[in-house]
Amino acid sequence: MTCLNLDHLLPDYIKHFEAYIPSKPDPELMRLYGCSRLYRLNNNENPLGPPEAAQEAIRNFPPPSAAVYPSGDAYYLRTKLAQRFGMDPDQFLVGNGANEVISFVMKAFCEKGDNIITADKTFAVYEWIAEFSGFEARLVPLKDYAFDDRAMLDRIDEGTKILFVCNPNNPTGTYWNRDKLSRFLDAIGGRRIVVVDEAYFEFVEAEDFPNGMDYIRDHPNLVVFRTFSKMYGLAGLRIGYLAGSLEVVQAIRRTCIVYSVNALAQIAAAAALDQDDHVLRSRALVREGKLYLKRELARLGLSSQVGEGNFIMIRLPMSDTLAYRKLMTYGVMVRAMTGFRFPNHIRVTVSHMEALQAFIEALEKILPHRPRLLHSIPKETG
Ligand SMILES: *Cc1c(COP(=O)(O)O)cnc(C)c1O
Repeated sequence: MTCLNLDHLLPDYIKHFEAYIPSKPDPELMRLYGCSRLYRLNNNENPLGPPEAAQEAIRNFPPPSAAVYPSGDAYYLRTKLAQRFGMDPDQFLVGNGANEVISFVMKAFCEKGDNIITADKTFAVYEWIAEFSGFEARLVPLKDYAFDDRAMLDRIDEGTKILFVCNPNNPTGTYWNRDKLSRFLDAIGGRRIVVVDEAYFEFVEAEDFPNGMDYIRDHPNLVVFRTFSKMYGLAGLRIGYLAGSLEVVQAIRRTCIVYSVNALAQIAAAAALDQDDHVLRSRALVREGKLYLKRELARLGLSSQVGEGNFIMIRLPMSDTLAYRKLMTYGVMVRAMTGFRFPNHIRVTVSHMEALQAFIEALEKILPHRPRLLHSIPKETG
């Protein structure tokens, strides 16, 4: 038998990279934690599912079509995106989830010795892809739970290729308004790529929130990410996209894997795109859920970070990983935030009322007992 020695084959940055371990399937988890049903509030999925038109498209997919390769570059979906946003179809690249387009952008612009800049407490995939590709990820601390524009600009050097801004930020829900995004893009002045990840764009209700698509014309170095996984309820089909100027998208296209987006996802996404009533219904559900959670968490004496997006973050008087395991025994799955560098915090998807009530009930049971007295001590002010 040949003895395998991977040591000299693996680059150092792979040796030191710890692989992400996804959660087990529901039946396995239910067996493990001894619960008879499971509310998944960990992945910011839409409890309403895909819009009716997308469900219809999925039902009508002819099974024999599975034998045929999909459009290699999502031709019809890009045409539809172009109509929707008043842009050219070639200004879009569709990927196997927005996760895949992150790696397209990084592969296109970064080489050995280069770095990317993002926040320390944000969607972790920018950092992961940079690190397992051998690039440095410069993580700038959040300021008041938000991306710190000045500090990000200060970290730029010769090797900086891309700045990733998650707007609104997952997990804090904070955002840059139009003014702040404009000033940041002006300060960069086209010398680096700026990615604005708008995975939760369709959930945003704030009036001063910038639509990244509107900034592409004046800022050809800007790349906007969107996904069908969150608002459009298609997370299981894996489809997301990026948009940018013709020049920048043409460059990124060289690194993009053709045929990575399956036919069913392309059809369902195209059908979902103009379902504005679905967007309004989902927003109403999230609005109602946030009000309920804020009220209940205040009652429990817990502080929460509630911003834009279909998720909230809660600070607990206990370890988040312990809270995760205890909540699981009540059939409620949340996101433990230690991995996001927010120890003692959990992130919870704002789902339908039944799931949120199950969460609050379970949370009340697992919280460490607090002496009643603490409650009645008035808060110091000023
Ligand atoms: C969920 C999410 C994505 C990735 O979504 P895909 O399912 O890969 O399309 C990207 N960015 C942020 C901030 C997210 O929360």
